[in-house]
Amino acid sequence: MRTLLAAIWMTCVALAQDSVVDLSILHFNDFHSRLSPSSQGIGGAAYLATAIKRERANCPRCLLLNAGDNAQGSPVSTIFRGLPVFEVLRPLNTDAFVLGNHEFDYGYERINDFLATAGHPVLAANFLTGEGRLFTEAGSVIIERDGLRIGIVGVLMEDLVPGLTTPTKFGPNKMLPALETLRNEAAKLKGKTDILIALVHLFRDPCDQIVSEIPDYAITISGHDHVGKETMFRAEDRIGVRLRSYGAELGRLDLRYDKSTRKIVSSNWKRIPITTAAFEPDPQVAALVEKWESKVRAVVDTPIGTAQSARDRAKTKTWIESVMRQKTNAQFVFMNSGGVRDNLPQGQILARHVWNIMPFDNTLVLGRVKGKLIPDFIRGEAILDPEQLYTVATIDFLVEGWRNAKEEAVRAFGRAMPLDGPMLRDVLIDSIKANPNLD
Ligand SMILES: [Zn+2]
Repeated sequence: MRTLLAAIWMTCVALAQDSVVDLSILHFNDFHSRLSPSSQGIGGAAYLATAIKRERANCPRCLLLNAGDNAQGSPVSTIFRGLPVFEVLRPLNTDAFVLGNHEFDYGYERINDFLATAGHPVLAANFLTGEGRLFTEAGSVIIERDGLRIGIVGVLMEDLVPGLTTPTKFGPNKMLPALETLRNEAAKLKGKTDILIALVHLFRDPCDQIVSEIPDYAITISGHDHVGKETMFRAEDRIGVRLRSYGAELGRLDLRYDKSTRKIVSSNWKRIPITTAAFEPDPQVAALVEKWESKVRAVVDTPIGTAQSARDRAKTKTWIESVMRQKTNAQFVFMNSGGVRDNLPQGQILARHVWNIMPFDNTLVLGRVKGKLIPDFIRGEAILDPEQLYTVATIDFLVEGWRNAKEEAVRAFGRAMPLDGPMLRDVLIDSIKANPNLD
C-alpha cells in the first residue's frame, strides 16, 4: 500500500514537473537603422548579431522578438527609405516583429516592402486597411518550441495621426484601440496556446497597463520609449520589459513557466550591453552593413557647391533661416540653435556637411496663425493684428515641443501649427544645388 501511494505521489510530482518548462526570450526595440556602432562603440547590427548567436547557443527553448521602430535614424535609412535595415537584420532570424510608428515614416505603402524583405512575421493586429482587412500578413502568430505553444500578439499605438505620423503617410488605413485588440486576440487564441506574449510598440503607460490589467498575457515585450526599463515591471506573476534604443542592449528574459496553471514560476531578466569591445562583428551581417554604408558614403560625399567663407554655428543658423524663408515666403522664421549641429566650412561643400549640420529628420513646416497666438519669441519686436493671419515657418520638432509646453498659450500656438512638410535637410541640399556658389 505504502509503495502504491509512493508510486502515485511520484507520478503526480512527475506530471507537475512535466507542465513546468523553460523559455527564454531574447528581445530588442527601437533599433532605428543604427547599422553601424556609435562613435563610442555602442550598438551595431553585426555586434548585436554575435550577441544573439552567443545567447542562442545556451538557450534550449528560445525566441527572438523585436518590438518595432527598425526604420529611421541614419543616412542609410533616410536615403534608402527604411528598407536596408530589414535586409541587414534578416539573418538574425527574428521570430516576430511588431510595426512601430517610424515604420510609417516613408509612407504606408513602403511597409509592404518591409514585409517582403523582413523574412519573419510582422505583426500589427490593430492596423487595418481602408477595407478593414489586416494590413500585415498576421496580427498574431503561434510558435511551437519543443512542445510549448507560444502565442505572440503584436499591436502599436492607435493614435498615430497627427502626433506620430501625417495623414498622407498613414493613408486610407485604420487603427483599432490597442488594448481592446489585445483582449480580443487573446479570446480568439483561447485553447490554442500554452503562453501568450504581447509584443507591443506603445507609450509607457499602456505597456504597464497590459501587465496589470490583461492577465491573458504572461509577458509584455515593448518598445517606443527609448529609455527602457531598469528592472522588470511586475503585476502578480506577470512581467513587462523594454530596452534602450539604437541596439545598445539585447534583452534576455529567462522563465520557468507552468503550462497547467499558465503562470510564471520564476524569472530572470538580463540587459546585455552591445559594444564593439565585448563582441566580434558577425561576418554575414557586417557584409550587409558595409554594402549599405558604402552606398551612403558615396551619396553623402557628393560635392554640391562651394562656400567663399566659413560659417560658424550662428552664421550657419542664419543661413538655414534664410533658406527656410526663401522656400516658404514666411513672414516669421524660427530655427533653434540646438538643432544646428555643425559649421558650414569654407571651400567645397559635400552633402555630408549638410547631413552633419542637420542630422535629424526635421520637416520644414509652414503655418498660418492668428496674430494673437504668435508668442513673443517668434514675433520679436513686431506689432501684430490679433485677428490677422500671419505665416510662420519652423521645424516639426519645435512644433511638437510647443504642443507639449507648460504654458497654455504656447500649446495653443503649437496646435495651430502643422507638423507636415518637406525634410529640411533636403531643402538645404537642394538650395545649394540650385545656387552652388555661396558667399
Ligand atoms: Zn516609436
